[in-house]
Amino acid sequence: MSKEAKEGKRTMTQTLLIKNARVVVTMDDARREIADGGIFCRDGVIEAVGPTNELPTEADEVIDARDQIVIPGLVNTHHHMYQSLTRVIGPAQDAELFGWLQALYPIWAGLTPDMVRTSTLTAMAELLLSGCTTSSDHLYIYPNGVNLEHSIEAAQQIGMRFHAARGSMSVGQSQGGLPPDRVVEQEPAILKETQRLIERWHDPARHAMLRIVVAPCSPFSVSRGLMRDSALLARQYGVSLHTHLAENDNDIAYSREKFGMTPAEYAEDLGWVGPDVWHAHCVKLDEPGLQLFARSRTGVAHCPCSNMRLGSGIAPVRRMRDLGVPVGLGVDGSASNDGAHMLGETRMAMLLQRVTGAAMTARETLEIATRGGAQVLGRDDIGALAPGMSADFVSFDLNHVGLAGGQGDPLAALVFCGAPQVTHSIVNGRVVVRDGQLTTVELPRVIEQHNHFARLLAQAS
Ligand code: ZN
Repeated sequence: MSKEAKEGKRTMTQTLLIKNARVVVTMDDARREIADGGIFCRDGVIEAVGPTNELPTEADEVIDARDQIVIPGLVNTHHHMYQSLTRVIGPAQDAELFGWLQALYPIWAGLTPDMVRTSTLTAMAELLLSGCTTSSDHLYIYPNGVNLEHSIEAAQQIGMRFHAARGSMSVGQSQGGLPPDRVVEQEPAILKETQRLIERWHDPARHAMLRIVVAPCSPFSVSRGLMRDSALLARQYGVSLHTHLAENDNDIAYSREKFGMTPAEYAEDLGWVGPDVWHAHCVKLDEPGLQLFARSRTGVAHCPCSNMRLGSGIAPVRRMRDLGVPVGLGVDGSASNDGAHMLGETRMAMLLQRVTGAAMTARETLEIATRGGAQVLGRDDIGALAPGMSADFVSFDLNHVGLAGGQGDPLAALVFCGAPQVTHSIVNGRVVVRDGQLTTVELPRVIEQHNHFARLLAQAS
């Protein structure tokens, strides 16, 4: 495959103009909010952002965003898209993390390649319609011939910017781990397959639509050796590392009992800190751990809804931000946050910090969901609207009933009020949602197939 085909690039020059937006929230270095604004893009890259009357007047495609607010596409840093097939499963509805996992592992053992493809399309459709343009997906279970390419195919079909994390589990119950033995893999095979995927798919270039991430599932499902070897492999190729860390009290207890260390000490011992690493949750990261993450620029994927759903606790995001820890937002899998609405997640992140008495404004929370996510994923080309950045942005209709009365501060309204769906979503300069409808897939058919697979999966277990 040619490099251009690999990156999904067009060969013909193509321009796009979005104009007349009530406000364009740039999240650029000056945090400009431009009234009657617009954006001019060429070949998937932003060329100019400013008041509509200062932009070119013609383009191959022109979108009138009158009465709309335009923001950078939100960046989702943690997800398990296949879990959209196992929403609200009875025995897992009211459990904490370990019990929840033990109820779900046997069901997930029935996953097939078609189920992964369809559930990834479903999850990405939900994300795109809720403001997200770049997502990571942590796929760590590979039964019945499933491989990471089944989710990559879905991302390419729907047109989402994608960080595909090759997860893994290698320590089954017979070895003292949490997952049943039948869903774990052999460590040499995991490393070999991960290396193959990096060589085949990883695109390090700016504006890349696809990157590969090395992502053993968690300290309680893989060995110390696999964590170390994964870090070596990732650094050999210059790709990012991702896992779950310090999610709840049981997670801390497991780390102390098995490794004699806190999760942060364990991560440091394994080489799992640095600007190329991000950890999901970190709800129970202690003060020395927070200091370590700040010093080493280790990232965190904050998943407020999942943390509430599983009763894990409240991540110290205020403290993280004050110390300079890179923080992005994640919806997490839909078995632990059954509604994966990225703008809704942003709202919850703001509200949940306030429960602890910490200050968190709408603007800072939106910054976490955009620039923060970009930093956590190791990208300097998304998360803000400025010349030279990727053309990834979304618009919302300010006449939506849930925003009525909030016209005095549309940006704040977007975060504080009931989160609407997007009017338009542009990814890499391509209109993926137009007038509230996905342009790349037939959503009702995807949902029908998804529900069919969800029923099959539940019946098979
Ligand atoms: Zn997770």
